[in-house]
Amino acid sequence: MDDELVTRENLSPNWNERTLPVTMLVLHYTGMQTGAEAEARLVDPAAQVSAHYIIHEDGCVVRLVPEDKRAWHAGRSFWRGISDVNSASIGIELVNPGHEWGYREFPEAQMDALLPLLAAIVDRHDIPRANVVGHSDVAPARKDDPGELFDWPLLARHHLALPVPKPRMRLVYDNDSAFFLALERFGYDISDGHAAIRAFERRWRPHKIAGEPDGQIGAMLFELLLQRDMGQAR
Ligand SMILES: [Zn+2]
Repeated sequence: MDDELVTRENLSPNWNERTLPVTMLVLHYTGMQTGAEAEARLVDPAAQVSAHYIIHEDGCVVRLVPEDKRAWHAGRSFWRGISDVNSASIGIELVNPGHEWGYREFPEAQMDALLPLLAAIVDRHDIPRANVVGHSDVAPARKDDPGELFDWPLLARHHLALPVPKPRMRLVYDNDSAFFLALERFGYDISDGHAAIRAFERRWRPHKIAGEPDGQIGAMLFELLLQRDMGQAR
């Protein structure tokens, strides 16, 4: 059970039984001032939140909930037709103060601990790369984590997330509904359209988060859908 990847255990009472098989993985930041504070909250019965793992900035990996149980990390969320994201996912919290308390780079030690853990989880549950997502992807109107400083390209280089697509055509959707339909088909909840675009940008074009459809993100989105439907990425 990959115990060599887990530094210690601090079991949380905040879980229940899954009602869906595991098909996705959701990455978070803790968004609290210290890692100790964040870990304490994730095991506090009064807080009613948890995750399967928390990874501290020094690379210490703590198991909070066994993977076969439903941890409470995603809240009200949606991805590719699934609205009970907690039942279908493994949740990993990365210690980082977040946008509220001084958002900063995720240190190398933390990423070095994340990569092998992620690889083991993805392999164990056969999770498609397209379903390794951020909290902001599954709750675009509520959440910004893990945020634009998270190194998705590093995950992609390790085949643990989809790489940023290189569109083979420059295309502008002739109307916004086509764009939003594509966004929904890729997986996003588009009930708040601008929030969904911001989430897409935070993940795929973090240097420009504007919340409006444009030709570049439209082309990226189209390419992602093409690759997935052609079986070049799952
Ligand atoms: Zn989160």
